[in-house]
Amino acid sequence: MFYKSTRNSNLNVSGAQAVLKGISDDGGLFVPSEIPAISLDDISGLAKLDYCDRAKFIISKYFTDYTEEEIEFCTKNAYSTKNFDTDNIHELTQLGDNMYLLELWHGPTCAFKDMALQILPYFLTTAAKKCNFDKELVILVATSGDTGKAALTGFCDVDGTKILVFYPEDGVSAMQKKQMTTQDGKNVGVCAIKGNFDDCQNGVKKIFTDDSIKAHIDSNNAAFSSANSINFGRLLPQIVYYISSYATLVDTQQINLGDKINIVVPTGNFGNILAAYYAKNMGLPVNKLICASNANNVLTDFINTGVYDRNREFFTTISPSMDILISSNLERLLYMLCDDNDEIIKDWFSKLSSCGKYEISDDVKAKLQNDFVAGYCDDNATKSTIADIFNEFSYVADTHTSVAIKVYQDYVKNTGDTTKTVIASTASPYKFCSSVLDALSVDTAAMSDWDMLEKLSEISSTEIPAPLAELKSKEVRFTDSIGRDDMSDYVKSFI
Ligand SMILES: *Cc1c(COP(=O)(O)O)cnc(C)c1O
Repeated sequence: MFYKSTRNSNLNVSGAQAVLKGISDDGGLFVPSEIPAISLDDISGLAKLDYCDRAKFIISKYFTDYTEEEIEFCTKNAYSTKNFDTDNIHELTQLGDNMYLLELWHGPTCAFKDMALQILPYFLTTAAKKCNFDKELVILVATSGDTGKAALTGFCDVDGTKILVFYPEDGVSAMQKKQMTTQDGKNVGVCAIKGNFDDCQNGVKKIFTDDSIKAHIDSNNAAFSSANSINFGRLLPQIVYYISSYATLVDTQQINLGDKINIVVPTGNFGNILAAYYAKNMGLPVNKLICASNANNVLTDFINTGVYDRNREFFTTISPSMDILISSNLERLLYMLCDDNDEIIKDWFSKLSSCGKYEISDDVKAKLQNDFVAGYCDDNATKSTIADIFNEFSYVADTHTSVAIKVYQDYVKNTGDTTKTVIASTASPYKFCSSVLDALSVDTAAMSDWDMLEKLSEISSTEIPAPLAELKSKEVRFTDSIGRDDMSDYVKSFI
């Protein structure tokens, strides 16, 4: 197994090199040279294993250059009850006959990003050792809210690394902001950008390929890497939990081995749902992959029409981690659907950067629609879904998960599909407390952030996650805020 670039099919690097670099020099994304297969027997074997060993099995199929001991070192350190509040690492909660919420937010920052960002630092430091890489790694992160904190937590005081996070000043929740700006550690930096997530992501991508910054970082004996889902080391751990959830459904006799399931994912940068697509292509029995968006519905239109057009109004919603108009990981999917044709990908993505728009061919569109269904809902529908789910099941879902639930409910209404369905539940409701309470008709006007946490705890009869409760006594360390054109200079001084 080796890795090539979506913009250069002749490239051949190892898994460790792909993780270290994050993004290819040609601006493309690293993709595995083939999709490894798993059999139903493999899945049946996984059903008997714990999460760590499930992860070890899947990861070793992709990182063939890592030894078994190295992978085990990574999984054991990442997926322990030191970091997660459940032995299972993820939970699977059934709501109604066919719907299962795959709760991926039991880690230290209460969002699914922990599933990958708890292990990525181990992948990276192991890769550095394997490649005799003696430079300091500077991790640059653009975040729509959750990646930032999860990456800061994962890399905090990791030897040989430094991490700098950019977030959109007005584009994250109060809790997300507090989580990031109070981060401990001597190797961390956090800075607000006067712009939206796309500005942050574009700025970071530009810095990765900017020659003057490259010279600067070289002369400091350092190198950039990425903790965003453009790094394949972020995607791989996400493949694990889809396969793991299926194994759990088999183990608990909710389904028979070989039965197909649907998977619904609240989508932003297309990383999480792409991981589900990899799982399907490895052999996981999956019927439809359902891509759920909020009012920023560029992906819904794309999947339904084959035209990607980012020239549209940008909405700030109550599901901020999905407020994205340029979904990076789509490039990996299209590369696979085009049978690894890097010329076509270069053409489409240069159109995207020059006019914000491209159209895929009919045969690629047909393949896309064979696997994917797409839908979206606005803030009002999200809120009524939160209230409905609470009234029916006494369960409080966060705003992002509720977008997915609503899109799934619409899909069932349209199709009558009774296939058992796993919905990725991407964040704890406590992270988006004020929107969730608002949806439950609680007047929060006079409440502090901490009052809100307590109120939600009372209503939902669940405990406030410890990492959020602890923020109350933490001091804000980072207050910088800069224009999107000042990111390069900021990075230089950070190095
Ligand atoms: C990041 C995030 C998403 C979007 O995931 P992508 O992999 O970017 O599609 C959805 N929900 C939450 C809570 C997130 O943090």
